[in-house]
Amino acid sequence: MTEPTQSDTRRALETGLTGLTFPRKVIVVGAGLAGLAIAYELARHGSQVTVLEATDRPGGRAYTLREPFADGLYAEAGAMTVTPYCHYSMHYLRELGVGLERSDLLDPDFAYFIDGKFATTDRASLARLGLPLTDEERGMDVPEMIDTYVQSVCRKLQPGIDAPEWSVTERLAPYDRQSVHEALRTAGASEAAIDLMDPFFLEMRGGDLKAASALSWLRHEASPHSMVRADGRWSKIAGGTDRFPRAFAERLKDRIRYRNPVVRVTQDATESRVTFVDHGTLQTLAADHVVMTVPFSAIRHVDFSEAGLSEAKQDAMRRLRYSSVVRVYLQMRRKFWHEANLSYSTDLPIRWVRDATPHMPGPRKIIECMMTGRRARAVAAMTDEERLRFTLDQLEEPLPGAAEHFETGTSVVWDQRPYAEGAYILPERHHSTLMPAIRKPEGRIHFAGEHAAFEPNGGAMTFALESAVRTLVELGHGADPA
Ligand SMILES: Cc1cc2nc3c(=O)[nH]c(=O)nc-3n(C[C@H](O)[C@H](O)[C@H](O)COP(=O)(O)OP(=O)(O)OC[C@H]3O[C@@H](n4cnc5c(N)ncnc54)[C@H](O)[C@@H]3O)c2cc1C
Repeated sequence: MTEPTQSDTRRALETGLTGLTFPRKVIVVGAGLAGLAIAYELARHGSQVTVLEATDRPGGRAYTLREPFADGLYAEAGAMTVTPYCHYSMHYLRELGVGLERSDLLDPDFAYFIDGKFATTDRASLARLGLPLTDEERGMDVPEMIDTYVQSVCRKLQPGIDAPEWSVTERLAPYDRQSVHEALRTAGASEAAIDLMDPFFLEMRGGDLKAASALSWLRHEASPHSMVRADGRWSKIAGGTDRFPRAFAERLKDRIRYRNPVVRVTQDATESRVTFVDHGTLQTLAADHVVMTVPFSAIRHVDFSEAGLSEAKQDAMRRLRYSSVVRVYLQMRRKFWHEANLSYSTDLPIRWVRDATPHMPGPRKIIECMMTGRRARAVAAMTDEERLRFTLDQLEEPLPGAAEHFETGTSVVWDQRPYAEGAYILPERHHSTLMPAIRKPEGRIHFAGEHAAFEPNGGAMTFALESAVRTLVELGHGADPA
């Protein structure tokens, strides 16, 4: 069959995957959201499915930290936001009966802390910082800068940049050769203005503005998923993001095998075989088809030398980059700041400071510092204890009293987490040339996960789930019916 399109995939979801005939036996590698959704649908449709997961829990990067915090407090290590536009997430959340609540990222008491001074996003407040803005920028609030340098470029690229079916037309292609930084400079933004706009979208893209593709970023900024276009309906999963993968896992029960890292995949004309570690032994299982949902950062540890993968696939596996993200969580004895929903963007190495628990009951709170890009890679080189100490020391300047109120803490270094080795994909310049090879099936081996999404900025739960449904459509048109 020809490769399913974005609208084929959406139609398949909306029609309950009717008209598809699934293979008898499938192995899914990885129990993140993509792998779980594929296994859930295959099991429902009568296939024999086994999920091999390297770690001891479902969810992968949908991961809620519940330790070492007191009073039932928790914080998100990975995904935290869902919007009504997350079509695939909303579908499965509804189906599994997982609830939503209002996101803490809405209505923050947002402030900049630059050069030891606080400011808000309005021009009068920013003037006190004495930043090297252009004369024109001195007359703008930050939302106006975003409109001038970002949304105006998105508008120029209409129609096309927000088309429901993503394709890189001749008019869009030059933006994939450009970095985000170049696109902003070309639009007239000063370095100081780029820094001010950063917390609203750039930092979330991994902080590597000189490497990231302008096209991938503009596609995101033109969409309702953009933070700038948030319409007050951002949500989070009630009780923690991990409730979502756990709801899938409960329905799959012992079809998921934990602590079984896959080390080798082979195939021939009749079957595909997967070798994995189980209690210190090597075991091999065969199936009609295998679905790999492992991020390409971690897939490099799996041996495909006898799998007959195309050059293009191997090249994509080698080249795809991931964003560096470090999140540090500090439990405070009590709330000792005046803001209801504290959120600072600082020029310190700890970058983004926020109350991760503004609406949780009890006196204790968790302050989170989140770093991306070079700042994340710098603190990644510290030990966990050094990182906590360093963060607390830095925090003392914008938040005096942090060290005194600190009780316990932890941190997550996504680059160093086994079986992830990165936070979410960083679509670099020329990403559109890599995309078809990332998701293309190779014989009996299929590829799903956020990196294999149709969207160039696939780093979200909904796009991981979209890739799952796209893979189900591929499998449903394959041979060897159940
Ligand atoms: C810091 C951060 C913030 C984010 N914020 C958001 C957000 O607000 N909203 C949102 O929607 N998304 C967000 N995301 C992205 C979202 O979490 C991911 O896009 C999504 O969870 C990816 O799902 P996946 O199934 O593709 O991959 P994963 O969740 O990575 O699943 C892959 C699974 O494969 C397993 N695995 C790896 N190697 C092997 C092997 N050799 N053998 C067996 N198993 C293996 C892994 O252990 C893992 O369980 C965020 C992510 C991060 C890191």
